Amino acid sequence: MPANEEIQQTFIMLKPDAIERGLVGEIISRFEQVGLKLLRMETKKLSKETVARHYKSLMQKPFFPKLEAYVTRGAVVATIWQGRDAIKVARKIVGATDPALAEKGTIRGDLGSNCTENLVHASDSPEAARSEIANFFGKVA
Ligand code: UDP
Ligand code: MG
Repeated sequence: MPANEEIQQTFIMLKPDAIERGLVGEIISRFEQVGLKLLRMETKKLSKETVARHYKSLMQKPFFPKLEAYVTRGAVVATIWQGRDAIKVARKIVGATDPALAEKGTIRGDLGSNCTENLVHASDSPEAARSEIANFFGKVA
């Protein structure tokens, strides 16, 4: 295995539009198809406190109120995945934040609606993955 590849865990959240549009199976399947292993999955309604911790770096952005309303308007599917280079692999198949700019073949490029309603969150670093998993699931082994 190349030195820069390691077994990682990552936090993936299917946002409310994934459930509303009946895309949960499709999206979970795409992560399975790239070889990631599902470790944990839970449907949850998020509190504003959980959202504030999850998106703390974005709280000062003008779009934060819209983002908060979006991710709290219905349940999300919070998941933990494991695999080789899992963080990068997951971000790659999720695609760019704006579905209009995301490549075809990515989840957002194929299925996302707009820059807010883009179906899925994926951790962007090992540190983020650890703190996001703790925020949603508490301390897990
Ligand atoms: N977002 C938004 N407007 C923007 C940028 C982002 O509503 O102009 C939302 C969108 O749902 C995005 C989330 O905020 O997925 C987190 O933004 P980030 O820049 O971290 O994008 P991501 O890492 O999800 O691609
Ligand atoms: Mg991000």
